Amino acid sequence: MKSIFIHKPNEISLVEQEQPKPSPSEILIQVMASGICGTDLHIYRGEYMGKYPVIPGHEFAGVVVEVGGQVRRFKVGDRVAVEPNIACDNCVNCLNNRQNFCLNWQAVGVTLPGGMQQYVTVPEKATFSIGDLPFEQGAFMEPLSCVVHGIERAHIGLADHVAILGAGPIGGLMIQMARLQGAAQISVLEINPGRAELARQLGADRVLNRLEDMQLDTYDVVIDASGVIPLMNHTIDLARKGGTILLFGVPPSGKNMEVEGFKIFQKGLSILSSFTSVRNSFQAVGLLQSGQVRVEPLISHRLPLSELPRAFEMIESRDPAVRKVIILPNG
Ligand SMILES: [Zn+2]
Ligand SMILES: [Zn+2]
Repeated sequence: MKSIFIHKPNEISLVEQEQPKPSPSEILIQVMASGICGTDLHIYRGEYMGKYPVIPGHEFAGVVVEVGGQVRRFKVGDRVAVEPNIACDNCVNCLNNRQNFCLNWQAVGVTLPGGMQQYVTVPEKATFSIGDLPFEQGAFMEPLSCVVHGIERAHIGLADHVAILGAGPIGGLMIQMARLQGAAQISVLEINPGRAELARQLGADRVLNRLEDMQLDTYDVVIDASGVIPLMNHTIDLARKGGTILLFGVPPSGKNMEVEGFKIFQKGLSILSSFTSVRNSFQAVGLLQSGQVRVEPLISHRLPLSELPRAFEMIESRDPAVRKVIILPNG
């Protein structure tokens, strides 16, 4: 079978290797659709602290082709998606329902071989049925789980006015989730014209391309989906008194935000962050299957495995035509 290896920063190639065998508690999946995420780019560009080589890909769906002897919930032919974060279920954080902070954390596509290959083994407990959902939609189970976790933390109220900074694939999911939570008005900041158009398509009420056009001291909930530090700094100016800020986008590590502490005090703000997800996969699959969250408009390209290096360059180019890029490892 063919697998993508990131051997070390900026060194990537397609490698022919033996198909893995599932252990008794594992499932062998034929990967049908695998989404590219910023994390994959960070690993490729060396902005990642862990060990190389890495077989990337942590947002994927496929078909069960073999099950280990202890597997109970799945059989050959089932259509599934994978929750990549593997918790030990036996540390102090896992035992307090904070599996996202597991002390023995492993992740498919980061510390374990991922979905940018034709076949991959994953633990049964990381596998979720997607029923008849198309594979490329199933590949959104993971990012949508993270968005569901963040949205639940933000507690959007009925008829709230929500501001969302950034309308990439995550911002696009946030717009739809904010609406589902009852937001009456959704204002989006996005400078990239392709992404601004996407925001409109997904139901944003206002799409602005300059930070100066956002209203000050106005929004009930401000969500940063950009990870751009100057925008994150500005969130405290946009929120109303007593409002909530959710810092969801991933900023570069080692860089500080700069905000006026007195302003946070005077406005009585709730400032939250959100790290991965905690048991949100069933919710994500339910939202995709019911059509309450639409992901088709988020996808701009479908490419074979061999094109992954070119796909990374396309995403880095910030071309307005590039949205989510899906890799099809089995053609
Ligand atoms: Zn991701
Ligand atoms: Zn643990």
